[in-house]
Amino acid sequence: MTRAATRLLPPDVPEAKFDRALDAWTAIVGAPHVVASDPGLASYLDPFAIGPQQAAFAASAALLPASVEEIRAILRVATEFRIPLWTVSTGRNFAYGGAAPRLSGSVVLDLQRMNRIIHVDETLAYALVEPGVSYFDLHAYLRSNGYRLWVDPPAAGWGSVIGNTLERGFGYTPYGDHAATQCGMEVVLANGDVVRTGMGGIDIGTSWQLYKPGYGPSFDAMFMQSNYGIVTKMGVWLMPAPPAYMLAEFQFRHESDLETIVDILRPLRLDETIRNHAVIEGAIRRAASIAPRSQWYDGSGPMPESAVAAMMDKLGIGRWNLHFALYGTQEVIDAQYAIVHRAFARVPDAVLSATRYAGDAEPTGGGARNLAGIPAMSAFRMLDWRGGAGAHVDFSPVCPATGRDAMRQYTMVKARATEYGFDYYGGFTAGVRHLHHIFALIFDRDDPLAPEQAGDLLRVVMSDARAAGYGEYRAHLAYMDFAAAQYSFNDAALLRLSETIKDALDPAGILAPGKQGIWPRVWRGKRGYT
Ligand code: ADP
Repeated sequence: MTRAATRLLPPDVPEAKFDRALDAWTAIVGAPHVVASDPGLASYLDPFAIGPQQAAFAASAALLPASVEEIRAILRVATEFRIPLWTVSTGRNFAYGGAAPRLSGSVVLDLQRMNRIIHVDETLAYALVEPGVSYFDLHAYLRSNGYRLWVDPPAAGWGSVIGNTLERGFGYTPYGDHAATQCGMEVVLANGDVVRTGMGGIDIGTSWQLYKPGYGPSFDAMFMQSNYGIVTKMGVWLMPAPPAYMLAEFQFRHESDLETIVDILRPLRLDETIRNHAVIEGAIRRAASIAPRSQWYDGSGPMPESAVAAMMDKLGIGRWNLHFALYGTQEVIDAQYAIVHRAFARVPDAVLSATRYAGDAEPTGGGARNLAGIPAMSAFRMLDWRGGAGAHVDFSPVCPATGRDAMRQYTMVKARATEYGFDYYGGFTAGVRHLHHIFALIFDRDDPLAPEQAGDLLRVVMSDARAAGYGEYRAHLAYMDFAAAQYSFNDAALLRLSETIKDALDPAGILAPGKQGIWPRVWRGKRGYT
């Protein structure tokens, strides 16, 4: 291990003291698993940082433990030296900060080496995994061992099951609500205690991955989007491979169709005719999976409506494009499809198409593969849309599943995007009673003005949304405080509760200070809206 000449240090920790901590950690995990200089440390920077923010969220070191015991020993040293740790599973939380910490100078606790698939149960359809297990890993393991179970991949399959679930990520099959399909955790607390949640409290347990509540208060959700613990094992329910499935793409011609689409879709989601997270993609997002923007328009500023219309005609895509899938036996799929088809056929100029697949057939194209439980990297096509050093940050408000709300959010965001010179690259992912509205601000990091404009736009759309009663479900490091402050009922009682719990569990403020706007008492002065 070589240490850099000019180094970023943990906050309030002198260099000699930091070196002593690094020595102690090296004795625990071994020198190859302590990263304290470039180029290794560079991989813990935010890959899509907006402007100068890369330096604002830098790690002073990274540690890669191999076991729960090593994590506990690392924690003892961190507590002794008062050095904050920022836990990641595989650190691929791109667009929200990657592996970078909220509090600059924190030491990243990178759990990628803890990558065992501990158990798979085909009868009860679940797996128990460690943090380093990616969706690609779990999928490959299930396939190579002949399990008739599907994973539910998010748009980028290289991320970890645990990291994505803790961030309440989502995928595209009926198991797409990852927080809901999680069951049972093992968590190391700041004081080193190891807790198993729910039925995991029975140490010769039989039902840890089967019944989430257990007995008494239920804690699993408390470890999601929080800084209350280090999750070292997690159960995930898996979908039994269906005998058949059908992938549908419905195209709608008019911008105002969004309202009708959402209002037709909602009852079909509520009565479970459509069981997966249907996605409504705007024209530009749909087009980006086919060809870059320069093919249609090469100017600066937002793409003009005339160019969008020409692009839609050329590519044969809609202004809105609805993707969903039906899963089960062929008879059931056919009956469901007839219902869905009838419902959407009444939208003027709609083009409805669908393809049937046998359960073990593999469709081509990343988006389609995700719907069939096969991880892909389709999410990254979007980076080519604007060209240059493509990056994006996402604005992710929760939207009630009504046409009126969807239209309202869309017009608000699109108007602001146009004002700030960005395309509306977005869409809605349909939960049951809510939609995740995801608007990606795609920019070229090498364009001197673009990152700053992206930051300005993001703050504006967050404020607009809050003024209309909408909140974000997830936020980039730079906006975590901003997003948390918007949950302000009763003088921010929610954040006060979160910080009361934080101080009780982690009085030294070691675990992920500032995550989701939750600051431990010792670091509360670092709170700040970017
Ligand atoms: P991905 O699975 O996409 O690689 P990350 O590993 O980047 O996701 O995790 C996303 C976020 O979730 C992290 O920034 C961290 O706040 C939290 N997180 C990830 N893994 C853990 C864990 N094992 N314990 C506690 N928090 C975690």
